[in-house]
Amino acid sequence: MAIREILHDEIFLRKTSREVSIFDKRLHTLLDDMRETMDSVNGVGLAAPQVGVLRRVVIINDTGEPEDLIELINPVIMEASDEKQDDVEGCLSYPGEYGMVERPMRVKVQAQNRNGDLITIDGEGLKARAFCHETDHLNGVLFVDLASRMIDPEEFEERKENRK
Ligand SMILES: [Zn+2]
Repeated sequence: MAIREILHDEIFLRKTSREVSIFDKRLHTLLDDMRETMDSVNGVGLAAPQVGVLRRVVIINDTGEPEDLIELINPVIMEASDEKQDDVEGCLSYPGEYGMVERPMRVKVQAQNRNGDLITIDGEGLKARAFCHETDHLNGVLFVDLASRMIDPEEFEERKENRK
């Protein structure tokens, strides 16, 4: 495994990623490297274009526990709740920047696992937010496009304090 460089290049990040059709060792190496890269910066999610690979691959871990890692290949959001959550969101490609983004409270995602098997996963709260955020990356959509407003670091720290 290897830590890959996380890109901050907005022109690249706005490209649309292509579907994965071959589930081989190359894909597994990408997934393993993405995991190591995300863990190295304590991220909640990472999409392949963020490490320079325009393929529909994302990983998510909303707890930080190794067994809670979710790998999604070719993910599609099938259902989203009418109920919304309006909360702070950030992105590993925008270190130190945060904004308020409205997302569905619950979503259902269909995807493939690293072996190509079809899987369906439900997410609520932060997990639902991460599914939406990372899937957006595959379509070149960034959270700064969706944020109702950006918040300054002071307000971000205050919000974190209030959550504890
Ligand atoms: Zn992101």
